[in-house]
Amino acid sequence: MSVSRRKLLRQIGVGAVVGAAAPAFRGFSFAAAAEASRGEFVAADQPGRVATAADPVLLYRNENPYGPSEKVLAVLRESVASGNRYPRTEYDTLIEKLSAMHKVKPEQIVLGCGSGEILAMAALAFLKPGKKLVQAVPTFPSLGKLAQAAGVEVASVPLNKRYEHDLGAMLDATRTSTGLVYIVNPNNPTGTITPRKKIEAFISKLAPEVTVLIDEAYHHFVTPNMDYESFLDRHFDDPRVIVSRTFSKIYGLAGMRIGYAVASPEMAKRLPAGFPNWSVSVVSARAASAALDDVEYVRLGIKRNSDDRQEFMNQVNARMLRAIDSQTNFAMVNPMRPPDEVIEHLKKNHILIGPKYPVLDKYIRVSLGTPGEMQAFWRAWDLMPPSGKMAM
Ligand code: PLP
Repeated sequence: MSVSRRKLLRQIGVGAVVGAAAPAFRGFSFAAAAEASRGEFVAADQPGRVATAADPVLLYRNENPYGPSEKVLAVLRESVASGNRYPRTEYDTLIEKLSAMHKVKPEQIVLGCGSGEILAMAALAFLKPGKKLVQAVPTFPSLGKLAQAAGVEVASVPLNKRYEHDLGAMLDATRTSTGLVYIVNPNNPTGTITPRKKIEAFISKLAPEVTVLIDEAYHHFVTPNMDYESFLDRHFDDPRVIVSRTFSKIYGLAGMRIGYAVASPEMAKRLPAGFPNWSVSVVSARAASAALDDVEYVRLGIKRNSDDRQEFMNQVNARMLRAIDSQTNFAMVNPMRPPDEVIEHLKKNHILIGPKYPVLDKYIRVSLGTPGEMQAFWRAWDLMPPSGKMAM
C-alpha cells in the first residue's frame, strides 16, 4: 500500500480494516477513529511540523495535503461498512451527478480507478504499433510509458518558450499515422496552461481519425484568466475530444483512486473496451459523490491553494531563486544548483519532492503542502550547504 493511501486510510480510521479480517472490521469504533484522525489532521498542519523517516513531508505527488472535507470523511467512514458488497447504485448516482454538473448525458461519462485508468483506456483504445502517440515533453509521463511498453511510437514535442504545448510542432508530428494526441492542461510538471483558442485551432486542423485526450487533472487550481477555459465548462462540439478529470487533487481523494472521462457517446463506449467496468470501489464512488456535493469545500481548496502558492513564490523570491509561474498545486523551481543535490539533501531531511524531469533538467518540482509542511521544507532548504560541498 502506498504511503499516501495508508495516511488517508489512517485519517478515516480504516488502516486496520484494509489489512485485517472482517471480524476486526465489525468491532471497529468509528467515533474513536474520528477523534484520533482529527488529532492527526490538525497536528499535520502545525508550524512545528517535524519531518521524520517514519513521517516524511510528502511534496512529490501533487496530492491535496489537506485531505478530503469533513463531510466526505464522514461518508468514507460510513461506507466502509458496505465493503462486503459490490457497487449497486453508487455508479449511477455518481454518473448522474457528473452528467448534471457537466451538462452531458450519463452515457458520456466513463469512471476509472483514478484518471490513470482513463489514460490506460485511451492507450488501449487508440494506440497500437503503427498508430503513434503525440505528446509534449515534459508532461505527465504515464500515458507515454504505457505506449512505449506496448511497442507504440511516442512523438514527444518540447513545450514552447512560454511552457505551453507547441501545437504547431505537435500538428506536424501528427502528419503520419497518429492514434492519439495527449494535451495536459494545465501541464504537469510545469504547472502552465496552453490557451484554449490555440487548442481549438489545433483540433480543427487535425486529421479526422486522430483522437485528442485533454487531461484536466489540475483544472480547479487555475486562476481565472482570458486564456484558459476548460473543455467541460464550455463544450467543444467535436466527437474526437475526450476530457479526463480526477478526484485526486482538489477533492483530496488520491488514495481512493477515482477519476473519470467525459466524451461523446461513441467515444465513451469505445474507451473502456477491454477494461472491467467495476474497478471503482463502493467507498470511492460514494466519497466522490459526496465530494461533488460539498461545493463549499472546493471553494475553500481553491482559495487555500492560491494563498499557499503565493506564499511559496514569496519564499522563492526571498531566496533569489526562479520559479515557473504556476497555475496548479505544485511549482517548478530553478534551485540555481544541481537538482540532484537538492533532491538528495531534502530526502536526507525526510522531505520528498518530485523527481528530475527530461528537458527541464535544471529544475525541481515541489508540490505545495500545508503551511506547516512548507515551513519544514524551507527550514530544510536553508540548511543546505553551499553547492558542491555536499556529501552525496
Ligand atoms: N494526469 C495528470 C496530469 C496527473 O498529474 C496525474 C497524477 O498526478 C494523473 C493524471 C493521475 O491521477 P489519478 O490517477 O490519481 O487520477
